[in-house]
Amino acid sequence: MSNRRQFLQTSLMAATALALPRGAAAGGIDAKTATSNGARVVSTWDFGVGANQAAWPVLAKGGSALDAVETGARWAEGDLCNSTVGRCGYPDRDGVVTLDASIMDGDGRCGAVAALQDIVHPVSVARRVMERTPHVMLVGEGAQQFALQQGFVKEQLRTKEAEQAWREWLKKSEYKPQINAERAAVKPGNKENHDTLGILALDASGKLAGACTTSGMAWKLHGRVGDSPIIGAGLYIDNEVGAATASGVGEEMIRNAASFLVVELMRQGRTPMDACREAIERVVRKRPVASKTLQVCFLALNKHGEVGAFALHKGFVYAVCDAGKCDALLESRSVYTGKPA
Ligand code: ASP
Repeated sequence: MSNRRQFLQTSLMAATALALPRGAAAGGIDAKTATSNGARVVSTWDFGVGANQAAWPVLAKGGSALDAVETGARWAEGDLCNSTVGRCGYPDRDGVVTLDASIMDGDGRCGAVAALQDIVHPVSVARRVMERTPHVMLVGEGAQQFALQQGFVKEQLRTKEAEQAWREWLKKSEYKPQINAERAAVKPGNKENHDTLGILALDASGKLAGACTTSGMAWKLHGRVGDSPIIGAGLYIDNEVGAATASGVGEEMIRNAASFLVVELMRQGRTPMDACREAIERVVRKRPVASKTLQVCFLALNKHGEVGAFALHKGFVYAVCDAGKCDALLESRSVYTGKPA
């Protein structure tokens, strides 16, 4: 993925040519297109295609949704072209790369790390927090200490490219989250200054899991934590209902406990897409002026394998993988218009 924009265009064309399953054009996928063994994995953004491709073999072999989402998230964290997740993530305003991640299964087991430095795979540290401690979240130095005790290795994460971008940013030092579509139109080839890999999976035994991993908002204040490691904000999973994850300016997800909200709306009978739409409407109702200049996106998968997405502004794409077909990249054509659904 050397040129994200080009990749995106190619993949979108491919997705169109694939004769999308019913519901896809409206921003969702229904259960009828279900999969060979009932498994499905969905991920945010174009890099979600690679994450899904990494996760799929786990599901295809009858592995757990939890193992699948961790595998997919680790792929994204190691991706050398991604300026918003893992190894190559952009730093904060002080030039420090800090990573946030969470993981959750449908039985309510969860773990998270926030503001973690010098460790490439925060999602795996989050899983260790879940499985080997009585806690849900570790932050900063404590999270790193725990990771090292668990055998993770310290690595310098600020790449040359990230360093250059940071030095460039320092010239104006203006904190301005980009709306992806505007960014691509204005400056093709420019790198994203925020995004998250949110990955949700349904396994052959009907269990759900999800993970979220990000370097957060580039040029954030040192110590800032976004929604991705906060259970209920960037990620929420319930085997009785479904799974939801988010990307975009995390403060908005935190204000609205948004991924929890999406799952609760599905519990009340909403489709994944409608639940995501209602969550976007809440964001806008709370901050109508601010929401004009920032991006917020939701992706949901219910226990029947139905998928839905909704974004505040255009440009949100998500990847869907099932029955071994892992190249589908769909654009959420459903964006907030201010008109009733
Ligand atoms: N939600 C992430 C954060 O606020 C960034 C993103 O997904 O765009 O840290």
